[in-house]
Order: sequence, then structure tokens, then C-alpha cells
Amino acid sequence: MILEVDDLAGSGGGSCCEIVVRWEATGRAEQRVGWRVEQIGGVSESAEAAETGVEGEEPATAAAARVLEATLVAALMPAIELGERRILVRGRVCPLLSQNLRVAGLTMQGWRRGSGHAAIEIEADGFEERAPADGAAALFSGGVDAACLLADNAERFGEASPHRVRHAILVDGFDIGGFHADPDGSMMARSAETCRAMLAPRGVRLWVVRTNLIELLRDNGFWERAHHGAGCAAAAHVLKDRFGRASIGSTFRADRIEPWGSHAVMDHWFSSADLSVLHHGADLTRFEKTRVVSRHPELLARLQVCFVPEKARPAGYLNCGRCGKCVRTKIALELLGAGQPEGLFQTRELEGRHIERLPLNEYGAAAYREMIAAADESVAEHRRLAEAMRGALRRYARSQRVRRVDRALSGGRAVPLAVRAGRRAGREVRKLRGVG
Ligand SMILES: [Zn+2]
Repeated sequence: MILEVDDLAGSGGGSCCEIVVRWEATGRAEQRVGWRVEQIGGVSESAEAAETGVEGEEPATAAAARVLEATLVAALMPAIELGERRILVRGRVCPLLSQNLRVAGLTMQGWRRGSGHAAIEIEADGFEERAPADGAAALFSGGVDAACLLADNAERFGEASPHRVRHAILVDGFDIGGFHADPDGSMMARSAETCRAMLAPRGVRLWVVRTNLIELLRDNGFWERAHHGAGCAAAAHVLKDRFGRASIGSTFRADRIEPWGSHAVMDHWFSSADLSVLHHGADLTRFEKTRVVSRHPELLARLQVCFVPEKARPAGYLNCGRCGKCVRTKIALELLGAGQPEGLFQTRELEGRHIERLPLNEYGAAAYREMIAAADESVAEHRRLAEAMRGALRRYARSQRVRRVDRALSGGRAVPLAVRAGRRAGREVRKLRGVG
């Protein structure tokens, strides 16, 4: 794979730049990865200069160098996955970044394919080491992981600390507006406005980084399991003239070792001499993170946890209140005594029957086990929720037993077929009843 800067025109200030991606071993057609940066809720140029030292328009080459390194970070995992043997960068690259990326690649190769594979070569026209800027940033989507990062950071570091997060980065191009349909960008615009409202009172500046990097390998499973940490880190590299460290909120606690695209053993290998990439919150479970956020009402009031598409919810509600993620968050808030802020969930009730019947995966089951242990069963409401969660776990254990038998007897093919047939039958029944 060869990466080369294209279209230097208009790249001043890091606002726009494209990188040409030429595949070698895989013979795929040439692609272009673009990056655009927009600040939401503007700050005056003089305030910006005083705080960050970045004054006016910078040379286009400096922005291009950052974007080139960002694309190198973003392209690493797709290049390895598709069988490229090297990445040649037509430009100067940080020597530390090129070394770190070999480790990141080997870590992911070991996870996905086992040990013994050759490391991908990172070649460049030359090396150039740049000094880090002052200040800290956080990747920010408005969910529990990101809100916990921000809240925990503010609790640990004072206003004057260089570790205090001053910049937040919302990425447009994967997650919202990426795999999920958002053709007119309205979902992204609303999400950016919600994030801005969470961040502005804390003096944290919001940057939206728009990119088409998922075009390099459009595969949802690969993206989740191998790539989204690199994508987040890449977006931070685009803006690293404004800060020297960027934190990514963890999905899982560090003792969960299985492959995941953003992981405690992975993310720091996306660091360069001028940007330390940090993985935050890997010592906390989701319930513990919710506890941290619940201490910050202004963050809690605008939390975005729901995966149900926005068009399926009435306008004005951030979360449906009925999907697995919403229900787990509502249970956690109830057990923590934090209550539900007005307007956060479309459906406020927590029905035991609904909790029991919601499908679970291992992550959700672990969350229920932890919350059952945390419930104070001398409180009637807690006892009712704990009983519903125990019911859900019994259902989950039964489904796991059926899947184990299915794997032994049919190689795991019968259950998915039965599930699809059940859904089809359900749709037919609803049609007959006139509600489909
Ligand atoms: Zn929901």
C-alpha cells in the first residue's frame, strides 16, 4: 500500500486534505481518504491562539503531514487484513509512530490469526520527529464511556493541569453517519449539538472530524473487532497541533482480553512522538462508569446510549428507553439512586416482564450479574429489578445450552435458521392482525 498526499490546495489549518491510497498486493482500485475538521460552537481566533499557540493559517505542509500520519494509522488494520505486506508513505513520518504501528499490527494479527506472522513494514521517504503540543483531548460521542472519561478527568485533574481535557473530538464517518443511515446528516448535526451542550459548560471545545476512512474496508464486524480504536486515534492525529494527548473511553474492563477494536493493550500503540494515545476507564465496569457519570447531572441529562435509529423515536428523545442498552442504563440509574433526568428516555418505566424477555449477550449478562450483586434487596424496587434480571439470566442460560447442543449436532446452523423462521412467522402474524 502506498499513501500520498493529494490536493494540497485548501488544506490550510488542517480543514481539508485528501490522501491517495494505492493498493499493491491486493490489486484493489485506488482510493482517497479525506479529512475535514469543523469546530462546533466557535471560539474567537485570539482566544484560540492564546490557549493553543496555533495562530491563523498554518503552512499547508504541516496540516498535510498530520493528515498523512492520521491516514497511516487508519489504514494499518485494513492493509493487514487484506494482505498488504508494507505501507509506503510518500512523506516524512514520526519514527516512533512507525515502530509503534508494527506492534499494533502484530498484536491484532496474534489475536485474529495466532502468532508467527510477519510484521507489516512501514516505509517512508524519511523520518521527522515533532514536539507535542500542550493539552489533552478526548474522543467524545456522548455515551457512557465518553461521559465517564470527561467526568473522571475533571474529578482527577484541576483546571490548571495539562492533563485536564480541553478538547473533544466527535468523529463523523463511522458509527453515526457511517454504517447507520444518515443521508442528510441530520442525526450527526443533532448529536453534535447534544455533545456541544454537554461540553460547553465545562469549557471543553468540540471538534467534528469528518472522514470516509471506513471505505478502506467496509465490514461491520472487522470495524468493531479490529479497527475503531485506530479510527478514533487517527482522528486525534489530524488535530494534534492543538494537544499532545488524546484519550479513548474503554468499551470493556482490562480483564476482558478478547480482541476488540479499541482495547487497553492496543490503543497506546497508535501514539507518536507528538501525540500520546491513552485508553481510559479500563479499570471500570459499565455500571461503575454509570456511577461516575451520575455524579455529574449536566452530563447525565444528555447521555446518548441508544442504538435504536433516531427515526424510530419521537423527536426530542435521546434514547428509546426499551432497547437492551437503554434498559441496562435505566436499571443502573435506579440502583444508584440517580433517577432519570426528564426527557432522557422516551419510555421511563422498567417493566419486569420486558427486562426478562430482552435478548442478552455475554456483555449484557455480565452487567446484570454485577447489578444484581449491587442491588440492595431490602429496597422493594431493587428486589423487583434483581428478580427480573435473574429471570433474564435464566433465559440466557437456557439459550446458551441450546446453542451448545446446536453447535455439537449441526455446527451451529440450526438455531440461526430457527430464529429467522420465527421472525418471519412473527411478521406474518402481525400482518394478519393488521399491525405489521
Ligand atoms: Zn434504546
